[in-house]
This record gives sequence, C-alpha cells and structure tokens, in this order.
Amino acid sequence: MASGTAYRCPELAGEISTLESFRRNPFIPSGNLCKAPPNKKTRSRPWKANPLFDRLPVEILQFILLNLDLTSLGNLRCVNQTARCAVECLRAYSLLRTHASDTLRVMHSTKCSSYFALGDLFTEFCYPWCRTCLASEQKYEFAPFLYLPSLTRSCFKCNTLRDEYQPGEVGDICFRFGLKKRDINKAGLPLVHAIDRGARSHCQRPIADVTQAKALATKIHGSIEAATDIYCQRLNRHPHTRPRPRPDPTSTRYWRLSATVALPYFDRATQKTETGVYCRACTYHWEQGFAKDWKRGETILHPHPPNREAYFQAFLERDIPKHFEVCKNVKKGYDFSRKKDRRSCSRQGEDFIVGPANQV
Ligand SMILES: [Zn+2]
Ligand SMILES: [Zn+2]
Repeated sequence: MASGTAYRCPELAGEISTLESFRRNPFIPSGNLCKAPPNKKTRSRPWKANPLFDRLPVEILQFILLNLDLTSLGNLRCVNQTARCAVECLRAYSLLRTHASDTLRVMHSTKCSSYFALGDLFTEFCYPWCRTCLASEQKYEFAPFLYLPSLTRSCFKCNTLRDEYQPGEVGDICFRFGLKKRDINKAGLPLVHAIDRGARSHCQRPIADVTQAKALATKIHGSIEAATDIYCQRLNRHPHTRPRPRPDPTSTRYWRLSATVALPYFDRATQKTETGVYCRACTYHWEQGFAKDWKRGETILHPHPPNREAYFQAFLERDIPKHFEVCKNVKKGYDFSRKKDRRSCSRQGEDFIVGPANQV
C-alpha cells in the first residue's frame, strides 16, 4: 500500500442535490427539520395522555417507531413530551439527526421523507457499499450517494449509467406507460420534488422512478405494450389531454442527479461517519485536461470513460492507500499547485496525506 493526497468534497461541484443547492435558491424552503415543542412537562395526566406509550413493551414500541416514516415521526414529536422522548431516544433517529442532518433536510425539501421508514433509511446509513456494484459485479465500491426513489445507496457510476436509477417527470411517465397520477399516488410510488435548474429555477417538479412505474403499468394493464396502446387510444379520442412536449434539459442524467442526495456512512464499529475521500492526483489529471479518453478508439464514445470514472470514484479513507498503490496518476508526481488554466473550475476540499499508517 502507498501514500497519496486525498480530499473530501462535500458539494461535488454541484452534481448532486445538496442542502447548499437549496440554500442558493431563494424560492425553495430551506428545509428545516421538524421542530418539536419545548421539552417541558405536559399539563395532562400521563396515564390519560399516553396509553400507547405506557402499555406497550419497549421493544414493540421501538419496532413501531422504526417502521414509521420521518414525517410521521416529526409529527409524533410534536404531540407531547412523552412522545417526543420516545422518538428522540430512538438510536437510529438520533444518529441520523446528528450525522446526516443535511440529508434529512434535502429529503424534507424534496418532499419525499414521508415515503420511507426510519429503519430502512438507517440500514442504508450503516451500509457503505454500492448495492448495484455488489449485486452485479461482486465489487465492494464505496457509495457516497442515496438514490431517493428506491432508497438505494449507490456510487456515481451506477447512478449515472444503470437502468435501475432512472427517474422521470411524473407527467411524462404517465404518458409513456398509460398511467394516471392517481394510479401513482394510490400505489404509493415515491415522488421526489426536484428543483428545476433551468430557466424557472424556483419550480419543483415531481419525479418518479421509471422502473417502478413500468412495474405498476404492467400490473394494471397486463403488459407495457398494452399500457401504451390503451393510452394512445385514449389520446386519439381526447387529443387535448396530450401533455405539452417539454425540452429534456440534459437527458436522463439531469433527473438522475436531481433524485440523488449525499448520504454519509456511519461505521458502527468506530462510531464515526465517512462522507468519502477522493484521489487528488486523479482529480488533477481530469480537471487539467491531461486525460485523453476522447482520443482513444476504445473510449472515444464511452459514456463514463476510465479517467472520468477515476474523477468521481469515492473511497473509504482506510481503503484509499490500496488505490494509491495502483494509481497511474499518483505515479506521475503532479505538482497540484501548477494549473494550466487558473480560471477553470476545480473541486474544493482541503488536501491531506493518507498512507497505510493512517489506517484505523
Ligand atoms: Zn456502483
Ligand atoms: Zn488516483
């Protein structure tokens, strides 16, 4: 294993929905977490006010709370002091609020926190690997992101390229799969209200996952083809119901990143969180234009060529020395202070040296 320069990049150069992107937009609510009433005694008699909390065993109560969504838990905290204590004493809830408050605020701002149980979110919080890389390639790849519609921890590469991470605007999904908005609401498909980063930057459009919508359409109509036929017939009878075609901002990538949020990993063994570190040499190589993937025949049309993949690849701090050992850009010995074009944007983040000795 070898030493090298690493950095953390909380904003990822505006690629992912973060709290900062909401703060910059004056039209979007800032995403405050649910405020509970002051922590003082309730006036009503406890035995009368809290029959549920008094009679249920603690394990059952915790099981119920872990299966509640974040919005319901927020509302429950506002009921009275006992309910507030029950929620706040829940380890999963307190750890998420302490270490992943930005993630919770983004979920609140995108109006999707009512779709997911606390226990499911906590499971992803304590799991470091990209679920798709592990399932498809048996590869342990650190995944710093959470794809909201299916609440799946994912790496940047899978999130950008794989079919499992493909959201679309609800109106367009309904049009393609012969669904109505009430079908989507009735089935409880998670909707994420993404910020439109186009001209009307204050607009929040609901988006849903295409795979989930396809499964719903197949269930309702028997097959995707049947769903499309039914909807086309309906449109021919009532052409005014056809949704106005909208420009597709930057194809599917635009929606994928709007439905994705950064989620730190909580290591139960060390009780520490990790947001992921990046290789400075790989970053410098990409940002300064030394990567020539576009010139090589085998990578010229690749949607995520090797040097771009290295630019977006995140690591656990304890694992990055393994990357330094084989990284061709570390071996080039770049001077990171020398830049070809000082105006070119580069990722922020303080550099630090990581070596085998830094391992936990
Ligand atoms: Zn992956
Ligand atoms: Zn590298």
